[in-house]
Amino acid sequence: MTASQGIPQSIRLSSSVQHMLGKHLLSCYPQEACGILLGAAAAGGMCIDNYVPVRNVAPDPLHSFVPDPGEWIRAVYREPAPVGFFHSHPHAAPWPSLADLNGLSSLGPEFKVYLIGSPGTGHTGTPLLNGFLIQRTDSNGSAQTPALQHVPLSPA
Ligand SMILES: [Zn+2]
Repeated sequence: MTASQGIPQSIRLSSSVQHMLGKHLLSCYPQEACGILLGAAAAGGMCIDNYVPVRNVAPDPLHSFVPDPGEWIRAVYREPAPVGFFHSHPHAAPWPSLADLNGLSSLGPEFKVYLIGSPGTGHTGTPLLNGFLIQRTDSNGSAQTPALQHVPLSPA
């Protein structure tokens, strides 16, 4: 159980953001794509209405991501501040890896949403997306190691 006290939480994505995420994911394939999500808190969760791609400069971009430092700084200090982070798993299902979980503490407290995408299978080719809220406190409100809570994605 979490501290949400029964209030269903979700992440709402505008159709243009869904389109941008899928396009970036596929244009980077077979490398990992990453970028920041812009939006705001909304009733029942978070609402994401824009996406800014960030170049992946990892030495092994097929299996990891390192956001370009210059682009990252510009992205993080933009107004309004980003509320979430996206990256893709070109070769695996869109669930957090151990490296993803270990990397959560490098995201500032303004980051509340974490999305992972994978290329879709089947004839539609629609990318798969999983959404998570970054939890930084436990059910008593005490600080904890950041963790991810899987929540449903819905259209904005
Ligand atoms: Zn990952």
